[in-house]
Amino acid sequence: MSAPSVTSFLKAYADDLTLNTRNVIDMQLAVDDTDRWLKWTETMKAKPSKCIALGCKLFAKKIKNERFVPLTDSIYSPFDPKIVISGQPMRFIVNPNEKDPFKATHFKFLGRWLNPLLKENDIKNRLRTSLIDDIDKIEQSKINGFMRLWLYQFYVLSHLSWPFLIYDLDKSFAEDLQRNINMKLKRWAGICRTAENGLLFRSRKNFGLGLTSISDFYQKMQLTKCELLRQSKDNSIQELYKSREVKNAKYSRMWKATKAATVANAEVDLHLKFPSQAGNKGLGFGNFNPNPSLVEKRSMVTSKAMDFNEESRIAHSVSLKQQSIWLCWSDSVSPFDLSWKNLIWSGTSPHIFRFVLSSSINWVRTPNMLKLWGYTNNSCCCLCGADKCTLHHIISECLFSLSQHRFTWRHDSVLKQIYQTLSDFITSFNQQNTASVTPQIHFVKAGATSYQLKQAKQSHRPSLLHNANDWKLLVDLPDCNYVFPPEIYGTSERPDLVIWSVKLKKVILFELTCPAEEGIEAAKIRKQAKYAPLTEAISIAGWKSVLFTVEVGARGFIPTSSHHPFNKLGLRGTQVNALMSRISLISAKCSYAIYLASNSKAWDQQRALVEN
Ligand SMILES: [Zn+2]
Repeated sequence: MSAPSVTSFLKAYADDLTLNTRNVIDMQLAVDDTDRWLKWTETMKAKPSKCIALGCKLFAKKIKNERFVPLTDSIYSPFDPKIVISGQPMRFIVNPNEKDPFKATHFKFLGRWLNPLLKENDIKNRLRTSLIDDIDKIEQSKINGFMRLWLYQFYVLSHLSWPFLIYDLDKSFAEDLQRNINMKLKRWAGICRTAENGLLFRSRKNFGLGLTSISDFYQKMQLTKCELLRQSKDNSIQELYKSREVKNAKYSRMWKATKAATVANAEVDLHLKFPSQAGNKGLGFGNFNPNPSLVEKRSMVTSKAMDFNEESRIAHSVSLKQQSIWLCWSDSVSPFDLSWKNLIWSGTSPHIFRFVLSSSINWVRTPNMLKLWGYTNNSCCCLCGADKCTLHHIISECLFSLSQHRFTWRHDSVLKQIYQTLSDFITSFNQQNTASVTPQIHFVKAGATSYQLKQAKQSHRPSLLHNANDWKLLVDLPDCNYVFPPEIYGTSERPDLVIWSVKLKKVILFELTCPAEEGIEAAKIRKQAKYAPLTEAISIAGWKSVLFTVEVGARGFIPTSSHHPFNKLGLRGTQVNALMSRISLISAKCSYAIYLASNSKAWDQQRALVEN
């Protein structure tokens, strides 16, 4: 084994031994010496049946009386060096007696199959076949699409981890494997086959399904190998890595793990020396460890490289005209809960998740898309006859649907869920005695953990309801006899929820809107403007008033600002999150029903509200 400054005659790992020499005579001597040494120990013995010999040399035509037979016709060829160990011949790597054609031409050493020509084509084919076998096995199982995707993520990829770590394959091979199975993954996820691949592989915070692509997985394993070799305690291994790094640096267009590792390492080092702000909490917040262990550093490097891939997926999304719609609202709304727990165990229909995923890129079978794909000639709305019937039109704009109260039904379903949560909260709040509803200064002992601090903060956060326990709640739902409380102010206006305390002369108004995600900001401004005169009039009447607008996206995405009113009322973070995931699901369920009914003018206006 040789590299610019590394030579090695012997490599050993546990009871596996490799001997390298320049010629056959030296090799026979080395084998004899090794055999003698093994016998001397009296506890160890060579097993000739398990040993393999391989020679490689130049077979020049002018040399007569050639002792060895070349394996191939090329000038440089492997050959059987006919080494003998304890009088028994050592087997050549090619084994004509083996029935399996792969095993006949390969030898497995320390978990890696070696080919006499040092080629990896057969290994690639073997990997491809085994991947397709795994995928077919999953395809034949009687489980739903998301369960199949779970098996892809945690079973199929894990089969690839070892070969991706030890073989020097190439990125294009990994991409090719991915291409072979992409259609199946999309079918399992229930998304259109022409939908962009990023929908499967973008992280959940970027509105994707969060699967790992085979190409990403290959890069991750190769980077892990690079880091293991680079950080090796053995100087020779470090030298070998450096020589490979120098060699690979010459390939300017090809992806090489050493080049990616260099860039990712530089980024990680920069971050460790000059930490930047994480999230919107300000400089210095979050868990920052300036002295990571080798394992932590390795995981930082791989995740940094994965960040680059995520960025390129987002950049690709930006370049798409139709499927980039999610970028319009990605900064202001929370992603839908697409955790495996929710996808598999929540009992929610997979059709809802499919609708949410596809609607986030507007890649749904709506009249305008069907025309674009060439299935139909017109893109008119079946209900109101509008020229271009987009998903946005169907779920929030169609005047016919509006007149049939389809959108009101969705709004009221969400409102009912909010009402139930607030009603329970206010009932339990009113049951406390006045002393405990008065805010107190809460002291935290020195040395308290950050978790204890957070708990203390949450349980003693000032609430708008403090200092009274005569709170009343009124909701504008179909079966409630809603009249704005005349003791506050006489008006025909109907904010969706009214919470008031006569004792404090304080009123909190909630207005809920379920616009399409594109219109969330506009809806907020519209509603605030609409109720500004009412809050003003209430203030003049001597009451303190607070107006909250809550927006819930029609596709099921909720703006982060919609958490705020519930936090102000004093609900715990977990309560607010649970409420948000419930209303997000209800909104998506209703919009899915509205979408399915968009080709029929019949609509039951007495339809029961959707509950969780
Ligand atoms: Zn319409």
